[in-house]
Amino acid sequence: MSSQALPDVRVPPPGPRSRELASRLALVECPSVPARREAQALASGEDAAPIVYTEGDGVNVLDVDRNRYVDMAAGFGALLLGHRPDAVARAIEAQAERLWLALGDVSPSDVKVALCERLVRLYPQAKARVILGSTGADAVTAALKTAALTTGRAGVVAFEGAYHGLSHGPLAACGLRPSYREPFAEALNHHVTFAPYPHDERSFDRAMTEVERAVAGGNVGAVLVEPILGRGGCVVPPAGFLPALRAACDRAEALLVCDEIWTGLGRSGAWLASVAMGALPDVVCLGKGLGGGLPISACIGSARAMASWGAHGGTTIHTATHFGSPVHCAAAVATLEAVDGRALPARAQRVGEMWMSRLRERTTGLSGVREVRGRGLMVGVALEGGGARGVSVTRRLLSRGWIVLTGGAQGDVLTLTPPLDIDDSLLDAFCDALADAVAAP
Ligand code: PLP
Repeated sequence: MSSQALPDVRVPPPGPRSRELASRLALVECPSVPARREAQALASGEDAAPIVYTEGDGVNVLDVDRNRYVDMAAGFGALLLGHRPDAVARAIEAQAERLWLALGDVSPSDVKVALCERLVRLYPQAKARVILGSTGADAVTAALKTAALTTGRAGVVAFEGAYHGLSHGPLAACGLRPSYREPFAEALNHHVTFAPYPHDERSFDRAMTEVERAVAGGNVGAVLVEPILGRGGCVVPPAGFLPALRAACDRAEALLVCDEIWTGLGRSGAWLASVAMGALPDVVCLGKGLGGGLPISACIGSARAMASWGAHGGTTIHTATHFGSPVHCAAAVATLEAVDGRALPARAQRVGEMWMSRLRERTTGLSGVREVRGRGLMVGVALEGGGARGVSVTRRLLSRGWIVLTGGAQGDVLTLTPPLDIDDSLLDAFCDALADAVAAP
């Protein structure tokens, strides 16, 4: 049984051991990480030093100072079943006794076969095909290559506020912050058009006007979209958005690529948010939660969209040493079985609705909270006061034993993605902690 305990903070976080390890790391890791912390500290007046994790079990994390937290960030939303879920741990151990690495596209492992067969069944039409990857960015790269190969067109329509990973292919289409792209702009795909991501009916019309204008140009091979913005701050678009994109793609003979790396596998209350919203994508990207905490991703496409890979001329033009790693495949099969067997997408939907109402009730009348929004167990709490306020509320929650992240272009949205099996009682306790943290001077 995985752990579902309340926080137990013994030393004000970050404690001395966390501070010592973080300072040592700052001397050896990429300087952009400590630079970001310094900038956050300067802008918010808060101490931005991190806690250092040492153990995880279920919804709980222990830091090196032995403080216990409830993990509402859950590995950037990737720990659908919490830390080290039993079923996945058993599958990893069993696989580790047998085989760690096969030979990719030359000689696959038996467990890769099992995973691919299971993944194509997530796609609503028969004869879907899958390309495995290690990271979310790998899945998006494979999807964008699929569109280029199928349509012969390099153009991509993407959205402001969206995040697709930071390797070169996805980065070109990452609308969350222009600063991610700017230093590398020369090396990126120059055929990307950004449309606004709609959050209401008025912005929906503006978004679709931009999409239609871009696809009318004739060079667009893919419309790449998150069905709900994740890192962009849990923005749920109006109901007609995905179907309207589907129709625009059909008219332009472009592929609709849904990046479900955050929304998929039950996180947003459905196996695939796009399908639940009434649109069948040509290609779907999955990642994050797929490996139950281990890195593995998948790009799944319809038979029609994926046929171009087979027609290319008998060379494997997209592969990598660790794609389809047996241990990670075993973790993914066990994760999918557990999510399915415990009906966690439906639970996330039900529990998420109740939780959002409680969060709204608990924060009504408190100054500083603009909106509670989301779907399933991807919930955003939009704060007044910009990114500095996001940092300070996050730090207050941390000092009470709750780990949360901020999202949104300004960093002013608390982004809550707890494990899908988190106890109701912890979700209730979080509502009180949040109200306290927001109300504190
Ligand atoms: N797509 C979405 C929607 C994401 O949220 C992320 C990561 O947060 C990615 C792609 C990239 O995934 P990764 O960080 O595993 O490359």
